[in-house]
Amino acid sequence: MRWIALMMAMVLPLAACKQQPSSELPGAVNAARIIKADPNEWVSYGRTYDEQRFSPLDQINQSNIKDLGLAWSADLDTARGQEATPLAIDGKIYITTAWSKAKAYDALTGKLEWEYDPKVPGERAVAACCDVVNRGMAAWGDKLFLGTLDGRLVALDRKTGKEVWSKVTLDQSKPYTITGAPRVINGMVIIGNGGAEMGVRGFLTAYDADSGKELWRFYSVPDEPGKNKEDHLKKAESTWEGEFWKQGGGGTMWDAMAYDPELDLLYVGVGNGSPWNQHFRSNGKGDNLYLSSIVALRPKTGEYVWHFQTTPGETWDYTATQHIMLADLEIEGQKRKVLMQAPKNGFFFVLDRADGKLISANNFVPVNWATGFDVATGRPIENPDSRYYKTGKMWLGSPGPIGAHNWHPMAYDPKQGLVFIPAINSAFPFIHKPDWKANKHGFNVGLDLAAGAMPADPTARAAAVAATTGELIAWDPVAKKARWTVKFAGAWNGGLLATGGNLLFQGNMTGEFAAYDTATGKKLWSFDAQTGVVAPASTFTVGGQQYVAVLAGWGGAWPLAAGLVGEPYGPVRNRSRLLVFKIGGTAKLPPADKSVTPLDPPAKSGSPAQIADGAKNFGQFCGVCHGDAAIGGSVTRDLRRAGSLGDPKMWNQIVIGGALNQNGMISWKEELNDDQSENIRLYVINRAHEDKALGMK
Ligand code: CA
Repeated sequence: MRWIALMMAMVLPLAACKQQPSSELPGAVNAARIIKADPNEWVSYGRTYDEQRFSPLDQINQSNIKDLGLAWSADLDTARGQEATPLAIDGKIYITTAWSKAKAYDALTGKLEWEYDPKVPGERAVAACCDVVNRGMAAWGDKLFLGTLDGRLVALDRKTGKEVWSKVTLDQSKPYTITGAPRVINGMVIIGNGGAEMGVRGFLTAYDADSGKELWRFYSVPDEPGKNKEDHLKKAESTWEGEFWKQGGGGTMWDAMAYDPELDLLYVGVGNGSPWNQHFRSNGKGDNLYLSSIVALRPKTGEYVWHFQTTPGETWDYTATQHIMLADLEIEGQKRKVLMQAPKNGFFFVLDRADGKLISANNFVPVNWATGFDVATGRPIENPDSRYYKTGKMWLGSPGPIGAHNWHPMAYDPKQGLVFIPAINSAFPFIHKPDWKANKHGFNVGLDLAAGAMPADPTARAAAVAATTGELIAWDPVAKKARWTVKFAGAWNGGLLATGGNLLFQGNMTGEFAAYDTATGKKLWSFDAQTGVVAPASTFTVGGQQYVAVLAGWGGAWPLAAGLVGEPYGPVRNRSRLLVFKIGGTAKLPPADKSVTPLDPPAKSGSPAQIADGAKNFGQFCGVCHGDAAIGGSVTRDLRRAGSLGDPKMWNQIVIGGALNQNGMISWKEELNDDQSENIRLYVINRAHEDKALGMK
């Protein structure tokens, strides 16, 4: 063994110095090019079909990471969450931004080559649970493919950015959205959708890449019994009760996909139920297939092959839409073709990807809804207290609906045999709402969101904030445990990239973009991105030199839906930019404006009854975007600092009249009357005074 190590030591530095050839396959993107996955480019969302997000490139490595600097940056024209993975093809970088816009840059110079704006109507934002984000494009032939927030799938000419075709993939009268990146398999563009918080039925559709013709559609949950034609849906009927189809059932497939070309199986992650609360969805009974499942499909036809359900009878928003990663591992002396996922429910699953059989399931953060999994049956050992609709008691569930892991991509290092997880420690009070009725707009989850909102009281709030943390976990899927972890005080940190330079790149909530030693988790380098970074980086070469690209820009579910906004760091600014790094890069970001709109509310007014009414409706309708207890972030308006707070007419024109429709702040006239809207204003004024009295500025 020793001589091999010695030879490797001699060979590696030479390989690192040698100029890597530029892409050998210029021109059209095809199956061979995606499968070959030349490390000099990044042609598919997770780089390869197995979605490992590992690049063998090693020019940037532990010996020179200290010299990594900004090559260039490009300011974006939106200040909402940026979640996309930059594609790098034939010397160009292709990104999507918030509001489903696309841009192309010359990778060497940063010159903007083209930009495309699908002009998503602003009011569509209210259908998005988690900001107006977009996670990227897919490439095939001479085209790029993009899903838009309002449900279109658009094919763009890769050279010009001009629209080639566009298809509406869903019923736009329903609260569906698309935020995920499409994947292309053998000339078929595959796209899902989101909306299970609002009340929809999830499906995945394949389109012909050349013409945009629909080829097949796969539904994850059954329609009304008797109306289902496909075998997998007929089989699923008996796992549902009541009039489940009326709220759609949920099961949206809004993010994860992976593909095994040898087995010819497409794997897709299925989301939570509509509504969350199983009592209102299925009389509190049944497994509700195929919610919270990993499903294997035949990509040519969309035919169901197998499924594994990570959370039977889901009732906590425990989606299985999280990153699906494929790898070949040696487990107990046997080579296994596995599929791995760390879904919201906090267990790390290793499945046999040929047949979907469970190999192992171990929690990667503390969880309390289940004590473990029975590997023989593949089912969780549930804590009976966790079914809050049965007990009628508040259930402080860990993880909360934000998950132990959300959409942020993981990465794999084959040398270390480690899967890196951007994990979250969170809890959430699930409170059954016996008199719950679905609203036309906003969250329809069957819970008392107002009673479960984060408290305004600073002591109670501090305890909740302290208990909500982030972790970068290096998980050994064979040993079934963490090898090392990096702890963060805040929860919403970035997706991951691992490289052959033994480096792991991750941005975080403090505005840092950092590189870690994959073997130990030691931080080796960091860059002040001036904003929270949630997106994962990609890497590639141009002219023989390695680059790392990442989108910076705070946003997504956490600032909007988690009720903790920028805490514990305070409001995190959104300064949306594409950042591109190289060894010896000397570009600088402009100095950051750190000024904050002062907390200067109008005079206190309103009776205690009015303020209480405002608090209740704020919690039910407003908090998911503007922060629990009206403590806003910086992605949507911090209402305590809003100019309209001192102008009742303007407030009414916004809340009832829909004056800010184009920004995504729709009219709430179907949910609230004028008095209720005014009471919300009085409540927010009162909250601003409370926080000012505590010394907040
Ligand atoms: Ca959800």
